[in-house]
Amino acid sequence: MRPFEYLEPETLDEALALLADDPDDTLVMAGGTALVILMKQDLVRPARVIGLRHLTELRQIEATDGGVALGALATHGALARAPEVSAHAGALAATFAAVATVRIREQATLGGNLAHADPAQDPPVTLLALDGVAVARSGTGSRRIPLDALFVDVFETVLEPAELLLRVELPPLPPSARATYQKFLPGTLDDYATVSVAAVVATDPGGICTHARIALGAAGPTPLRAREAERSLVGRRLDDAAIGEAAALAAAATDPIDDLRGSAEYKRAMAGVWTARALRAVA
Ligand SMILES: Cc1cc2nc3c(=O)[nH]c(=O)nc-3n(C[C@H](O)[C@H](O)[C@H](O)COP(=O)(O)OP(=O)(O)OC[C@H]3O[C@@H](n4cnc5c(N)ncnc54)[C@H](O)[C@@H]3O)c2cc1C
Repeated sequence: MRPFEYLEPETLDEALALLADDPDDTLVMAGGTALVILMKQDLVRPARVIGLRHLTELRQIEATDGGVALGALATHGALARAPEVSAHAGALAATFAAVATVRIREQATLGGNLAHADPAQDPPVTLLALDGVAVARSGTGSRRIPLDALFVDVFETVLEPAELLLRVELPPLPPSARATYQKFLPGTLDDYATVSVAAVVATDPGGICTHARIALGAAGPTPLRAREAERSLVGRRLDDAAIGEAAALAAAATDPIDDLRGSAEYKRAMAGVWTARALRAVA
């Protein structure tokens, strides 16, 4: 690894000031599970690395008014165990529990996961389906970024070099909402998904769908929402015909690549299969 200067600020303001000093040659490090690999491979060459581990206020996981706020430094393990997370959506706790192995889960953080922007990661998929909003701050102020506007391309987000992710906020779910996360793992349990699907639906007392969210991972350059598929469900009963149609629309919305986890054609087909499974689970 190339030499670099390592700094560990004690406060958020100190971290933001250090970052503002030299944003183009500085990278922040949370768990380091993604960054250290990129540095060892010489794919990123920061002159300075700012370790965030002393910023304990960014680890908080809090129930808000019907929703929940997830601190950027909370680890996947802490999020999987937090009662506030499972009370909001059991599927979200299951999503964090589905990340990699216990070693990675206890080290890697939510903020690092979102900023890393690998489209095959798990948490962004369920957080998208739950209408998550990221809160970011730089030395000049804060802004809220809906997660469907955060990801630009593979390993690329709209975050500015001097911005830190502080937390993700999830709004209250509609009454009767059900959520699921389905990770297709044909290889080993600790792998990245071949494709993954999160679905959230709510129905009225007559069984008519009033709210639908479908998000997919490993199915394009960014995690994506299958909006046409969502629209096709609202106002209908979640029967086999509606689910089949939505699954076909979700598969058509994908843009996967050929890689060691399958061909693009196979992944598109699996996106349809796993969307149908996800919708049957919440129907
Ligand atoms: C062996 C292995 C298996 C994995 N398997 C999975 C898997 O199955 N599913 C999955 O979802 N992920 C998986 N991952 C990816 C892992 O979840 C992410 O690497 C992790 O969440 C990144 O978090 P981190 O805290 O380690 O980030 P870091 O490595 O510290 O940082 C990653 C990037 O985010 C930036 N960053 C970190 N925190 C912030 C912040 N608060 N604000 C702004 N930028 C920030 C860093 O500058 C860097 O660019 C795996 C990783 C490994 C090494």
